[in-house]
Amino acid sequence: MSFIQDRDDIEFIRETSDKALDQMSEYNVVPTPMNYHVWYTHSAGSDLSLSSTINSLIGKTTRFSSEICENLYQRFFSGEMTQSALEEAGQSIQKELVKIAQTLKESGDSTSEYSSSLTGHMDNLENIEAGSEISAILYQILADTRRMQEKSQKMEADLKASSQEIQKLQSSLAAVRQENMTDMLTNIGNRKCFENELDHAFKECEANQTGMSLLIGDVDHFKKFNDTWGHQVGDQVLKAVAHVMKLRIGEKGTPARFGGEEFCVVLPDVEIAEAVELADAIRESVSQRSMKRKSTGERIGKITVSFGVAEYRAGDRKSDIIARADEALYLAKKSGRNLVKAEIDLEQKIAKTA
Ligand code: GH3
Ligand code: MG
Ligand code: MG
Repeated sequence: MSFIQDRDDIEFIRETSDKALDQMSEYNVVPTPMNYHVWYTHSAGSDLSLSSTINSLIGKTTRFSSEICENLYQRFFSGEMTQSALEEAGQSIQKELVKIAQTLKESGDSTSEYSSSLTGHMDNLENIEAGSEISAILYQILADTRRMQEKSQKMEADLKASSQEIQKLQSSLAAVRQENMTDMLTNIGNRKCFENELDHAFKECEANQTGMSLLIGDVDHFKKFNDTWGHQVGDQVLKAVAHVMKLRIGEKGTPARFGGEEFCVVLPDVEIAEAVELADAIRESVSQRSMKRKSTGERIGKITVSFGVAEYRAGDRKSDIIARADEALYLAKKSGRNLVKAEIDLEQKIAKTA
C-alpha cells in the first residue's frame, strides 16, 4: 500500500493504525480488511477527498452501515485498483503477444529458408541415380513444410491483430483514467489529480532530495460575485481562472481545481521564489482581465484571486505543506486579498507580533 512506502515510520504507522481502529469502533464500523484500508487511509491523511467524504458523513451519521462502508471502498479504492490492474495486465499481454509474433516470424523465416534449401537438395538428387525415390519423399516433406509455413504466417497475422486490439483497449482505459482526473467544469485536473500529483512530487523529493512548491489560490469574495451575477456567470469565471492558470504555468506544473473556487498547483522542482512569481503572474492576469457576460456581452465586475505558497521541507507529510500554503492563503485574505503570500511571510508576521 503506497502510504506505507510513503512514510517508513513505524511510530507513524502505529499511531495511524490506533487512530483508525478507535474511529472504526466509535462509528460502529465492522473491522474487515476493506474497512480497515479505508479508515487507515483516512487517518493517515493520504487521501484528502476520502477524508472530506468521511468527515461530512460523520456530521450526518453516528453509524457507518456496511452499505456506506462498501460504497466508500468501491468509490475510493476498488475502481482505481481494477483499472490500473487492467492496464498493467493489458501491457504485459501485449508485450507477450509481440514476443510470440516475433518468434513465429523468425520461425517462419527459417522454415522458408529450410524449404528453399530442400528444393535445392531435390534438384541435386534428381541428377543422381536412384535419387528419384528419395526425391519423392522430399517432395512430401516440402509440401508439409509449406503448409506449416502458411499456418505460422496466419498465426502471426492473428497475433498482430490481437496485439492491436489490446493496444486499443489500453488507450481507452487511459482515456477513462484521464477523464477520472479531469474537472468537468474547468477542464483542468480535479482533486484526485491534485492528490496524485502531490503524491508523485513527494516521492521524487524524498527519493532524490529535490524540492517542490505548492500554490493554493482562492477566488476573492466569490460568494458575493455569485449573488450579484448569478451562478452561471460564476462558473464562467472559474473557467477563465483555470484557463489563465494553465497558460501561465505551462509545463512547470499541473493546475487542478481543489474544489469550489479553490485551485492548487503542484510545481515539482520549482523553488518558492519562482513559485511566488508564477502565482503573482496569474494573480495579475486575472485581475486585469476584463470579463463579459457571455450571453449579453455586458461587462461584469473585476475578479481577483489570492494565493498562498509553500515549499517542501524534508520530513513533511503532504498535509503539512498543504497546511502551510493554506495558512499563507489565509494571510493573503486577511491582508486585503488580490495578494500572494508565501510561508516566509507567516514567519515574518510571527516575528513582528513577537
Ligand atoms: P473569500 O474572499 O474569503 O474567499 O470569500 P468567498 O466569498 O470567495 O468565500 P466563501 O467560502 O464564503 O464562498 C465561496 C463561494 O464559492 C460560495 C459558492 O457560492 C461559490 N462556489 C463554490 N463552488 C462554485 C461553483 O462550482 N460555481 C460557482 N458559480 N460558484 C461556486
Ligand atoms: Mg474558498
Ligand atoms: Mg473565495
